[in-house]
Amino acid sequence: MSERNLVLLGPPGAGKGTQAERLVADFELPYYSTGNILREAVEQGTELGKKAKEYMDAGELVPDELICAVIEERLDSGEADDGFLLDGFPRTIGQAEMLEEALEKRDRRLTAALLIDAPDEEVVRRLSGRRTCVKNGHVYHVEFDPPKNEGVCDQDGSRLVQRDDDKPETVQKRLAVYHEQTEPLIEWYEERGLLRRFDGTRTPEEVNSHIRATLATLALEAEI
Ligand SMILES: [Zn+2]
Repeated sequence: MSERNLVLLGPPGAGKGTQAERLVADFELPYYSTGNILREAVEQGTELGKKAKEYMDAGELVPDELICAVIEERLDSGEADDGFLLDGFPRTIGQAEMLEEALEKRDRRLTAALLIDAPDEEVVRRLSGRRTCVKNGHVYHVEFDPPKNEGVCDQDGSRLVQRDDDKPETVQKRLAVYHEQTEPLIEWYEERGLLRRFDGTRTPEEVNSHIRATLATLALEAEI
């Protein structure tokens, strides 16, 4: 069977998280988001985890080299032999080059960079409409998935608030960072023939079936 070595790209709010969950379940891929693999390394107290913790405790960004080393550790663990799904790394061209080198060293290459795209105004509409319950983090949307009683969680009756991350001015800032850092990366993958685009404004089911069809085609091409 061919490997599925995948990178997930896209603006916040385009539905990457939902698609990641499905891909992981459909193909039994290990899921590597920067947050979860660093947290696990710290919890397990590995050498790299200890180093990462020093940065995190100091409130500093964990350097790219260290994040990449943590990913490499996972690549060498055996769990990712049939593939993996990376989310949140690479975010810049520098990181993408690092990843490419790490894969090349292991005689592997990326299968595809999956871009789940959505226009800015749609991202703002989706994120700024989100409301989260203070107690258990249940998520609602004022327009698409409203609670029965405004401002109150259906499940536990606690108060619903707009997280700082979802405030319109924060969303605009996150989008600006995304455009500045990640758009060059999209071009970079495009030039290498690795980019596959998906319309994040479609339903999650449609996006998922489009991704599955694309991966099936790529697997066939790999066998020829
Ligand atoms: Zn709740």
